[in-house]
Amino acid sequence: MNIQKNIPLVKYTTFRIGGPARYFITAKSAEDLIEAVRFAKAKKLPYFILGGGSNLLVSDEGFNGVIIKNQNSKIKIQNYNSKFKIIQAEAGVNLGKLVRYSAKQGLTGLEWAIGVPGTLGGAIRGNAGAFGHSVSEFIKEVKSLNSKLQVISYKLQDLNFGYRDSIFKKNKEIILSVILKLKKGVVKEIKKEIKETVVKRNIPPFPSAGSVFKNLLIKNLDKNILAIIPEEKIKEGKIAAGYLIDQCGLKGKKIGRAMILEKHANFIVNLGPLRRGSSEASGAKAKDVIKLIQLIKKTVQKKFKIKLEEEIEYLGFD
Ligand SMILES: Cc1cc2nc3c(=O)[nH]c(=O)nc-3n(C[C@H](O)[C@H](O)[C@H](O)COP(=O)(O)OP(=O)(O)OC[C@H]3O[C@@H](n4cnc5c(N)ncnc54)[C@H](O)[C@@H]3O)c2cc1C
Repeated sequence: MNIQKNIPLVKYTTFRIGGPARYFITAKSAEDLIEAVRFAKAKKLPYFILGGGSNLLVSDEGFNGVIIKNQNSKIKIQNYNSKFKIIQAEAGVNLGKLVRYSAKQGLTGLEWAIGVPGTLGGAIRGNAGAFGHSVSEFIKEVKSLNSKLQVISYKLQDLNFGYRDSIFKKNKEIILSVILKLKKGVVKEIKKEIKETVVKRNIPPFPSAGSVFKNLLIKNLDKNILAIIPEEKIKEGKIAAGYLIDQCGLKGKKIGRAMILEKHANFIVNLGPLRRGSSEASGAKAKDVIKLIQLIKKTVQKKFKIKLEEEIEYLGFD
C-alpha cells in the first residue's frame, strides 16, 4: 500500500480547489481499502473515500485525515437472458469508461452518464442522474464494507434510492462493487445517443463540481411558492435550482476567481489563475466558492422563501 503524506488535493478534485491531505492512500482492491481504513483507525484519524472528486469542495486548509483514493476498477460481463446482460463493476471505475464499455458491448441505458466525471461508487452514493434518468434504474446489487470492515450485499430494494440519495449517505459504508443490469441494444444507435448527449451537456470550459445545489422537488414546496413559478419551469416534478439563481440576477457574479456561470447558474466555476504563468494556487479558493454559495442561498431565500440544499459535498471544513 502506497502511503503518501501532505498531498495537495487540488489535483484530485474537478474544481481544482483544495489544500493538502495529511495522508493519501491509493486503493486498488478491496484488500487495499480495508488496509487503508485500518491505517486511519490505528492513527486515530478520520478517513474519506475519494472517487473522481467531482462532487466535492475541499477547504483551502485541506483534510487532517486519511484520503483513500478508490481506484479499484475491474469490469466483467455475463449474459442474463435474451434481452439483458449483467455487468459487474468495481466502484472505482470511471463512469465515462463504463458508458463506453457498455456501448461497445451493445448495452444500452447508461448513455445519459457520458460526461459525468466521477466514479461508479460516487454515482451510486448520490444516485447521480441526468436527462430524466438516474443510476439506480440499472442497479441489481451493491457490495459494500461496513464500519466493522465486513462485506455486506444489498439488493436494489434495500438501497433506499431517492433523488440524489441512497442508503450510503446515511450508513457511510464503502461501496466496493456493483452489479448492473443493462438491456441489449444496437451499437450504432447507442454511440449516436452518446454523441448527442455530449452535445446536450455543453460542459463548461472551466473546472467545477457540477451542479452546486439540488433541484427542488415540488412535492416538498409550499403552494404559495409554487404559485409564483411559471408552469413551464416545472419539469419531472422539479424546479431547477439554476432557474431560481438566474431569477435573482446572480449569473456571472464573481468572488475572487470563482464565478457563477452565465450559461448555467447552478454551476460555480474556477476561473483559474488570473495571469498566464501564475501558480495554480492563485485560481479560485474554497473560501470564494463558499461566499458565492452563501450569497446564492441568502438571495434565493429572500426572493422565493426557498432553502436551497447543496448537491456538492464539503470536506475539511470542521
Ligand atoms: C462537469 C460535471 C458534470 C456533472 N454532471 C453530473 C450529472 O449530470 N449528474 C449528476 O448526478 N452529477 C453530475 N456531476 C457531479 C458528480 O460528477 C457526480 O455526483 C459523481 O457521481 C460523483 O462521483 P465521484 O466519484 O466524483 O465522487 P467524489 O466527488 O469523489 O465523492 C462524492 C461523495 O461520494 C463518496 N464516495 C465516492 N466513492 C465512494 C465509494 N466507493 N463508497 C462510498 N462513498 C464513496 C465520497 O466519500 C463523497 O462523500 C457532474 C460534475 C461535473 C464536474
